[in-house]
Amino acid sequence: MIIILKSDARKQQIEALKEEMVSQGFAIHESAGINTQLLGLIGDTSKVDVDHVMANDIVETVQRIQEPYKKANRKFHPNDTAVDIGGVKIGGGEFQVIAGPCSIETKEQMTEVAQKVKEAGAGLLRGGAFKPRTSPYAFQGLHDEGLKLLLEAKKATGLPVVTEIMDASHLSLFEDVDLIQVGTRNMQNFELLKELGKIDKPVLLKRGMACTIDEWLMSAEYIMAGGNENVILCERGIRTYETAVRNTLDLSAIPMIKKKSHLPVIVDPSHATGIRFMVEPMALAAIAAGADGLMVEVHNNPAKALCDGPQSLTPEEFDHMMQKVTKTRDFFQNL
Ligand code: PEP
Ligand code: MN
Repeated sequence: MIIILKSDARKQQIEALKEEMVSQGFAIHESAGINTQLLGLIGDTSKVDVDHVMANDIVETVQRIQEPYKKANRKFHPNDTAVDIGGVKIGGGEFQVIAGPCSIETKEQMTEVAQKVKEAGAGLLRGGAFKPRTSPYAFQGLHDEGLKLLLEAKKATGLPVVTEIMDASHLSLFEDVDLIQVGTRNMQNFELLKELGKIDKPVLLKRGMACTIDEWLMSAEYIMAGGNENVILCERGIRTYETAVRNTLDLSAIPMIKKKSHLPVIVDPSHATGIRFMVEPMALAAIAAGADGLMVEVHNNPAKALCDGPQSLTPEEFDHMMQKVTKTRDFFQNL
């Protein structure tokens, strides 16, 4: 619920109203940017006596929020959120490219790719250590050994690192990871989301491959409801009847998320298409649609990659794409 206050409301009156609402069991949404105009309240609004609230002379109007997501809702938080990841920001006008291999394979692979993507302008480094593979016989990732290699690459390059978590019991291994990724298959693993709500580390929440935008925002709400409001959304393609591509990139999700939520949204054109030649055009299209960033898979030898080689760019292809990314960003910023 949002209470809009009269412009001449005094600080003391606002404090008294806030106290009353808290005593009625409401949480005041602090990030709503409370000022003399607006109080964002979360609680069981069905029990609120609106006439009673309106009778208070400082209240101009009361708006009920219909959507089930509150903390992720733009109505509670009109300004864009920028999430800080080890000093690098995503959102609120700050654009970043996350790049690196699908899976961490060897020290040489990780070091080489990390150095090359940094030189090409990536702001964050990715690499999977716990891999959610469709087949139990496929490469499952190097687990803690992989995280060690990722952290070595972080040290060598200074880039903040992103990697996927699959089980909350692994959280202690993620202490030095800067951004924790929840993959498409775990977007509705609510127990995992609740655990991530208890920490203050940023979370990259990928869209479930068969989930609606509202379901995705409700998953963000699970993390935020626990107190962790550092959530970045990632559109990575959804399942449709189309088989020419691995998934169908839902570019329309970007302006829709921007309308519904204040959270940053980035696009992963690698998993969305599954095909190397489509990564660049979809990356540029994502920028045109208003994405706050990109996540792109890069491998030093895609033909030999243990996972997702066909969609991985070589460092040279990534460098080429980054030049176009910069030009496209400049074009749309000056439009
Ligand atoms: C990944 O980014 O490595 C990954 C497995 O992505 P998704 O969860 O989108 O399939
Ligand atoms: Mn992958």
